[in-house]
Amino acid sequence: QAKERGKNQVHYFTEELNQKILQHVTLEQDLRSGIKNKEFELYYQPKVKVETGEISGCECLIRWHHPTRGLIPPNQFIPLAENSGLIVQLGEWVLEEAIQQQLFWKKMYGIDLPISVNVSAHQFAHENFYTRLQQIFKDFEFEPNKLDIEVTESVLLDDSNHNLSILKMIRSLGVTTSLDDFGTGYSSLAYLKRFPINVLKIDKSFMDDYLSRTGSVFIQTIITMAHNLNIEIVAEGIEQQDQLNYLKSVDCEFYQGYFCSKPLPAKNFIELVQDSLNKQAKT
Ligand code: C2E
Ligand code: MG
Ligand code: MG
Ligand code: MG
Repeated sequence: QAKERGKNQVHYFTEELNQKILQHVTLEQDLRSGIKNKEFELYYQPKVKVETGEISGCECLIRWHHPTRGLIPPNQFIPLAENSGLIVQLGEWVLEEAIQQQLFWKKMYGIDLPISVNVSAHQFAHENFYTRLQQIFKDFEFEPNKLDIEVTESVLLDDSNHNLSILKMIRSLGVTTSLDDFGTGYSSLAYLKRFPINVLKIDKSFMDDYLSRTGSVFIQTIITMAHNLNIEIVAEGIEQQDQLNYLKSVDCEFYQGYFCSKPLPAKNFIELVQDSLNKQAKT
């Protein structure tokens, strides 16, 4: 009987696995055609100056308008795009789209905001990344110093020195670099000494813990160390006034979070920026 049950479990397991594989394969095909059919959209989340509330830039975050499944958030397809290599094409689309949007805002509204774009480890390490980036700057006549590239620790984990030299090369173009999700991986402080990083983004999970003694010690230690290395701080996932007050008390430069705004479609985002500029002008 135990044997029967074992068999059934195996059967059940394979069924489930087949389902998973099937879903995976379908989604990968969908992703491929989605790239071809341009089913993606960028949303924009303000990066805010803690002290003044000014919007000093934005992060570009991808969304997928799937023809049958509706709006899919990045966590549900970026890993697949990375594993299948499709992230290279998708990432190029993101860069071009973000850059064109920035230029459009500048031309139409005179708003010349820096944009931050997430670049995954696979895309970053790809042999053509630097060349493509240079080409895009040239094609669109874009000032590289208006682009910030967000990478995660996985980019710094590659000890072949390839990624280090790419980072240095893009920095020499004038592009700035942010280390995303700090506090979720190994978060070795040693990286910060070796890699040219302008901005450190402290992950939401860290910021959620600011009220606890250890949480606060960690946040303050990270900030102090970063400042000593001339690195600025963005606190991620700020939702409450109390958190913002805390950020002021620890000299954190920037924040992102629902407290200011969720990521928005381009049109809504630029309206928010204009409103915010009008308010600043009145005070
Ligand atoms: P991330 O780069 O760390 O982006 C921050 C995520 O936190 C975004 O989720 C944002 O919507 C969310 N967030 C911001 N403020 C708050 C808040 O106050 N509360 C809460 N609960 N969440 C907040 P999103 O847009 O779903 O993106 C998830 C991740 O997907 C990003 O994390 C990034 O790793 C990846 N991603 C997004 N767009 C791209 C892209 O174009 N290329 C690549 N390679 N990855 C991307
Ligand atoms: Mg990011
Ligand atoms: Mg992040
Ligand atoms: Mg994140």
